[in-house]
Amino acid sequence: MKITIIASGSGGNATLFASRGTRVLVDAGVGPRVLEQCLAAAGGEPGWAPDAIVITHAHADHVGAAARYNKKLKIPIYASEATARAAALGDPARVRVFSPREPFEIGALTVSPRPLPHDAAQVALVVGDGARRAALVTDLGEVPPGLLEHVAGCDVLLLESNHDADMLAGGPYPQHLKRRISSSRGHLSNAQACALLAALPGGTHTVALMHLSEINNRPELALEAARDALSGRRTRLLAAPPRGPLVLDAAPPAGLPPGLARASAGALAPARQLDLFRGM
Ligand SMILES: [Zn+2]
Ligand SMILES: [Zn+2]
Repeated sequence: MKITIIASGSGGNATLFASRGTRVLVDAGVGPRVLEQCLAAAGGEPGWAPDAIVITHAHADHVGAAARYNKKLKIPIYASEATARAAALGDPARVRVFSPREPFEIGALTVSPRPLPHDAAQVALVVGDGARRAALVTDLGEVPPGLLEHVAGCDVLLLESNHDADMLAGGPYPQHLKRRISSSRGHLSNAQACALLAALPGGTHTVALMHLSEINNRPELALEAARDALSGRRTRLLAAPPRGPLVLDAAPPAGLPPGLARASAGALAPARQLDLFRGM
């Protein structure tokens, strides 16, 4: 399974999961043209149109272009009932409602959702192709009970590391926005992301930090903190850029340490990455 991060952050979110002839776009925070350009830049197989779109929640940075895809590509758009009610998804005939706790299938891929605490009905998603699994966990104010078990053993974890608590507190945002972001229904801080990473059982070979604030965080800060949390593990660590493409492979790298084997993926995008094998 190949994972292509198209965009990550408050400016728009979209990640493509592709395996065995099925291409599922999770979130439609960028439009079809950006997606097409981004996938062309990433190389790989010809064709760019996904077979379906899964929307995590009804915020504009995740759903803004959904109706455009619906109209242009005439593909199914999956959303929870709460999200389908709250968001403009376009022609309802192509909207498929999923239960936020029950796995569902799209072609060769199985999508397993789980509710997350956020100021919109939100889900974490584990996408699997029978051989490999990748988890996408963003837009959550805190780590809810059971989330660790839900993502345990995933080959790839895409995890929100939204803000540095001190940068947010001392930053330019108005008080109400600071309170919203740092609340239990807001966004995950670097320290909260680290707590989850430190508790993660084995089996995850790649972690990408997602949804980094460009105002209240710096990739270096998020990466340093996460590196400490993962210390001693054979895990490749990257920070997703606001705009991709950043291509990740769900298959563990063979033979070489992950940081070396997958160095080419980082070269595709201005992503920052740390090789945890350095100094080990
Ligand atoms: Zn978001
Ligand atoms: Zn959100």
